[in-house]
Amino acid sequence: MLCDLRSSFSIVAGSALPVVAGVGGSKPERLAEERPRIGVLALQGAFREHLRMLAELGAPAREVRVPGDLEGLEGLVIPGGESTTMGLLMETGGLLAPLREFVVKHPVLGTCAGLIMLARETVDGEQPLLGVMDVTVRRNAFGRQNRSFEGSVELSLNPDSCEGFHGIFIRAPWVERAGPDVEVIARLDDRIVGVRQDRMIGVAFHPELGHDTRLHAYFLESVAAVRR
Ligand code: GLN
Repeated sequence: MLCDLRSSFSIVAGSALPVVAGVGGSKPERLAEERPRIGVLALQGAFREHLRMLAELGAPAREVRVPGDLEGLEGLVIPGGESTTMGLLMETGGLLAPLREFVVKHPVLGTCAGLIMLARETVDGEQPLLGVMDVTVRRNAFGRQNRSFEGSVELSLNPDSCEGFHGIFIRAPWVERAGPDVEVIARLDDRIVGVRQDRMIGVAFHPELGHDTRLHAYFLESVAAVRR
């Protein structure tokens, strides 16, 4: 188990406390001064909600639809949606190679289908993936009766922190295998629902659909850390 917060769980949707170590209360102001150049992949899926949350944090982002949109960006969000469709659109739009090249060099946050796109493989068969993160994911893993639900995720963004996060899961995957260089950052019960490898963060749920900005703030902090 990553950590056990069930008895002390108190942070729920609606909380937007900047509790990530190193992010601190002044970060949104600082980021506003130095405007990080963030992109949100906008081929399909829940990209608008990410744009809204990033803007709320003082980091208005650019929609990425074609390879040229990646130019000059410092970080990228890959949203939830439908990974097979997203993969096909990446393939036909000539985005697979430029995206692979981008995400191995810059911070990236993948949510739900975005996590699937980052994965090396799925257990569900072949589909175009970026394949950059050493994890195997199972799509729609939580079963039919649980296609959409909300749950108390245990989130550990720093080695010495473990917090609750209200996770919104929509036909969500889980991580079935995580390689040696992959750090587990979130669990729901015993399932792995959040991982990090280098500057890549992937979560199976949808932080952009709630009000808790900690994961986006954490992503922006890793963009800021690359600049320093
Ligand atoms: N089930 C979708 C897929 O396999 C992911 C769902 C989501 O992003 N909310 O791609």
